[in-house]
Amino acid sequence: MAVAEAEIKGSAYVKEVMALVKAKNPAEPEFHQAVLEVLESLDLVLQRRPEYRSARILERIVEPERVFMFRVPWQDDRGEIHVNRGFRIEMNSAIGPYKGGLRFHPSVNLGILKFLAFEQVFKNSLTTLPMGGGKGGSDFDPKGKSDNEVMRFCQSFMTELFRHIGPNTDVPAGDIGVGGREIGFLFGQYKRLRNEFTGVLTGKGLNWGGSLIRPEATGYGAVYFAQEMLGTRKESLQGKVCLVSGSGNVAQYTIEKLLDFGAKPVTLSDSSGYIYDEAGIDREKLKFLLELKNVRRGRIKEFTEKFKGVTYTPLDPKLDYNPLWNHKAHCAFPSATQNEINGKDAGNLLKNGVYVVSEGANMPTTLEGAKQFLDARILYGPAKAANAGGVATSGLEMSQNSLRLTWTREEVDQRLHNIMKAIHKACYETAEEFGTPGNYVNGANIAGFLKIADSMLDQGLV
Ligand code: NDP
Repeated sequence: MAVAEAEIKGSAYVKEVMALVKAKNPAEPEFHQAVLEVLESLDLVLQRRPEYRSARILERIVEPERVFMFRVPWQDDRGEIHVNRGFRIEMNSAIGPYKGGLRFHPSVNLGILKFLAFEQVFKNSLTTLPMGGGKGGSDFDPKGKSDNEVMRFCQSFMTELFRHIGPNTDVPAGDIGVGGREIGFLFGQYKRLRNEFTGVLTGKGLNWGGSLIRPEATGYGAVYFAQEMLGTRKESLQGKVCLVSGSGNVAQYTIEKLLDFGAKPVTLSDSSGYIYDEAGIDREKLKFLLELKNVRRGRIKEFTEKFKGVTYTPLDPKLDYNPLWNHKAHCAFPSATQNEINGKDAGNLLKNGVYVVSEGANMPTTLEGAKQFLDARILYGPAKAANAGGVATSGLEMSQNSLRLTWTREEVDQRLHNIMKAIHKACYETAEEFGTPGNYVNGANIAGFLKIADSMLDQGLV
């Protein structure tokens, strides 16, 4: 979605920086969108802290410190040769080593990874842990590939990536299309090339340096964040009907935590369509989902063959809205991909009574959709804050690797929960401090930015 000139609000300076970003990074609409959303919030800060402008913090923060782009050749099971493109964006290391996931999806390109890396910088700052921001991945599509093909691809990818990363330099994790299987293959190849067993990736298996709760963390965190937002209105998730999109890692554990809190999730989706289950997705159905998606790697449509009363709606690319967001509910947890809630979807959600949106996916709402949520003054938790639980727990995995210790499930979950409460508090209080109470978008952008900007000032012109 291109950012139109007329959409750019804010001071002349913000407009000037935005024009520079668009001119220097043409054909990267997602990156423009992510930058604009942050810059509009930062206008409030720049009025109070003119030193950021004279130090050109904005111009520096939108420029990646380093970008790698590389060829990834691999052979399929029939011996055919394929060539994909690999990327790693090292966006900002002001407060710690670069940290952020790897995405394997055919839609991956430089602009998408730059938007993700940019968001990651602020998100990581919010976690209270010492992590800089990065992101990477490839336009490789793991869907329909055999385990051996995925392994050969991962090994080829790591054969270039290994020279750029390290436990004190850059620590990648998973994202769309990169789960436990892929992290295993990537880790194995890194270890082989470096002859070093080290915490260079997070999301590792439990037997070889992984942390309990890391797979659950993003979904759990998004639900904890929603619970905190509801707490400001003396409410809870108990009994709330929830729309969830996606059916991968984030969606699965969002459903699990919603059930723990007594809520009723009623939808799930994949890139082919979505299911609606009025009776609610209970623990038996969740168990089926985990097996369907993580073991058999099947499609969400199969839900209807297994359970009565579940309806399936295939994706209709001709529609200018997503019918998943057009059901009566209280809460929405977008957990699939960017820009999955457009202006029309946001309108439908509000019309159907949704007043809590907690973003598990990265930038799932367009600028137009977000504006509607903010204008309606609903409890709108933006991705940077609401889905920070994943990277926070990756940070906890790094700590355990450094200490050569493993914490119990309860211990990690408790730390995750406390971090999500702290992120919520920081966003809530910062929004208030800067004159926009209840605006978690401003709260998250500003709270994340201040720590980075001050660290950049401290470290001089680097
Ligand atoms: P998974 O690959 O496990 O699952 C992704 C899900 O979203 C799948 O159901 C997939 O369907 C669907 N999906 C992906 N792309 C599209 C698309 N273009 N259109 C429609 N559906 C799509 O990824 P995750 O659950 O890990 O990630 C989901 C979101 O959460 C992403 O935005 C990611 O950046 C974000 N996130 C993830 C974190 C993590 O720890 N994993 C941390 C923070 C954010 P299908 O299988 O058909 O492709």
